[in-house]
This record gives sequence, C-alpha cells and structure tokens, in this order.
Amino acid sequence: MDCIFCKIAAGEIPSTKVFENDKIVAFKDLNPQAPVHLLVIPREHIASADEVNADNALSIAEIFKNIPSIAADAGLTNGYRIITNIGEDGCQSVKHMHFHILGGTKLAERMC
Ligand code: 5GP
Ligand code: ZN
Repeated sequence: MDCIFCKIAAGEIPSTKVFENDKIVAFKDLNPQAPVHLLVIPREHIASADEVNADNALSIAEIFKNIPSIAADAGLTNGYRIITNIGEDGCQSVKHMHFHILGGTKLAERMC
C-alpha cells in the first residue's frame, strides 16, 4: 500500500519523531499550524477514526495513553487541542488515521 504515514512509521520516509513504541509513533507535522504541532499515528494502517473497531481499538487506547506524556514533553503545560479529520467533509488529506496535537499558544475558539 502506498501510504505516506505507513512509510514514516517504518522509517522509510524521514520525519522528526518525538515518541515511538511498538504500536504508535508521534512526529512533528511538516507544515505546523501552531507553535507545537505533532501528529500521533498507529503503526497499523487504519484509514480514519471512522474505521475504528473492536479489532484495532487497542491502537487508539495506546495513542490516548501516551498523549499526556507526549504533550508534556513538548512543553504543553497550559492545555492543547487534539483533532482528527475524517474523510472529505472533514478535510482529511492523509488516509492513515492521525491525531493532531496543537498548542503552544492560545488557540482559536472556533473549530471550523
Ligand atoms: P490531515 O489534513 O489529513 O488531517 O492532516 C495531514 C497532516 O499531515 C497535515 O497537517 C500535513 O502537514 C501533514 N503531513 C503531510 N505529509 C507529511 C509528511 O510527509 N511528513 C510530516 N511530518 N507531515 C506530513
Ligand atoms: Zn498507512
């Protein structure tokens, strides 16, 4: 499968990783939209949060289990935002589920 985030997870495409274990990888977004903009992905290919099911839910749990320490290590002591875009209307451009972690400044109140 020609998936850019599968390749990042496998180390076949370079990225600035800030955390990884056997199930997930966190790395800096190439085009940051906030002073801190990280992406957290499962190593296994899940197309979007709309594809989460009983068989792959452990990857989601692993992501959320690690987000607090990933955010703390990035210096996000005053809050942050987690976003996952889904499909066409959600403006998802990379079809491998990812959670944006945005922070390092007061974010816009509106979300769309
Ligand atoms: P989406 O629009 O799918 O929610 O977000 C995709 C994100 O992936 C965008 O913020 C974009 O900047 C980021 N991105 C796309 N390609 C790459 C890449 O090759 N490396 C990194 N680090 N980020 C990428
Ligand atoms: Zn993938």
